[in-house]
Amino acid sequence: MMFETWWLLVLPLVFGLGWMAARLDLRQLISEQGALPRSYFKGLNFLLNEQPDQAIDAFVEVARLDPETTELHFALGALFRRRGETERAIRVHQNLATRPDLPEPEREHALYELGQDFLRAGLLDRAEESLRRLMSGPYAASAKRVLLELYEVEKEWQKAIDAARELQTLEQKDYRVQIAQFCCELAQDALQKKRPEDAVAWLRRASEENPANVRAPILLGDVAMASGDARAALGHWLGIETQDAAYLPLVADRVVKAYGTLGEQGQAIDWLRGLLKGNLAPELLDTAYRTELDVNGPEAAAALMREQLRRQPTLLALTRYFEAQAAEMQAAEAAVAEGAAVATAGGEAVAPDQTSEVAAIRDLLQVRTRNLARYTCRECGFRARLFYWQCPGCNRWETYAPRRSEALG
Ligand SMILES: [Zn+2]
Repeated sequence: MMFETWWLLVLPLVFGLGWMAARLDLRQLISEQGALPRSYFKGLNFLLNEQPDQAIDAFVEVARLDPETTELHFALGALFRRRGETERAIRVHQNLATRPDLPEPEREHALYELGQDFLRAGLLDRAEESLRRLMSGPYAASAKRVLLELYEVEKEWQKAIDAARELQTLEQKDYRVQIAQFCCELAQDALQKKRPEDAVAWLRRASEENPANVRAPILLGDVAMASGDARAALGHWLGIETQDAAYLPLVADRVVKAYGTLGEQGQAIDWLRGLLKGNLAPELLDTAYRTELDVNGPEAAAALMREQLRRQPTLLALTRYFEAQAAEMQAAEAAVAEGAAVATAGGEAVAPDQTSEVAAIRDLLQVRTRNLARYTCRECGFRARLFYWQCPGCNRWETYAPRRSEALG
């Protein structure tokens, strides 16, 4: 019986001790948390509540109280830049980059961030200066990639070639497509400065770098045409058929012009008619229509479009067909009016009502098809009326297929 009484006395004591121990643990925890400034938690709270302005103020306070916290400085710099406050971002990163006690990897990180701040602020020279200091180390490849973008924006193609070559070894990635395009850009510069020999040299280098590059033969043809050698130009352009026929529509107008210069319009028409039977027909339809109209008149052009509609019915072919029909009818009306002035004999007159009906259909179709055909970037989906070797949307090279997509929108 004595034992049970003892037990009743000890039990509350054990509970009491447990309670005190728990309180001690809590106190210790609270005092440990006190080592981090209150502003830190305030800032974190603001950040989690998506209130970046207040978060920045709170973090600036922490950074002021404890200047050793480099991670926080990097976070602040990134926040500033993302919010477009490039001047503040530059100041934060510049402070880090010039701190003598900073270990080398962190200093390189600061230089890399600084380069991006300058780029964002449009201070391209200073961006280049910062990034060029990162020749080796973990940020070398990233810095080089940013530098390459910068050179493309500044159209410094020789520097772009050098950067791409260095990246090729740093990243073990293939940059030949880009390098060949940079050579083509240099060739175009040379052409503008009336230095065709230099242009040809750059274009040969482009083809050596990337034999699949189609822009080089297109430009080689331009050089030949400019020097008055239409036959040589035709050689370059028609050669694209064996290289990558999908790009032929890009040179179709040039080919027609070159044949015209040589007085061989019939050859141009034969060439186009042959291609209209293949899968490039939608792309070549306009060139074929215009050439036929110029050389053989509206009746022949209408017949060609009718034939094309039977083969492959498209809105564009239908539009051109009605264009040719309207032109033909208007020409007939004009001829009748002219004839009537000489003698009032009827002949094969076209009712004016019928002509205006056809013209109305033509107008309607023209409006519907005006913005139909667009080139589309494979990478970012940017659509454009003109063909670009470098996408204006995502700045990637050769991402436009040479075919336009016909979509009713
Ligand atoms: Zn794109």
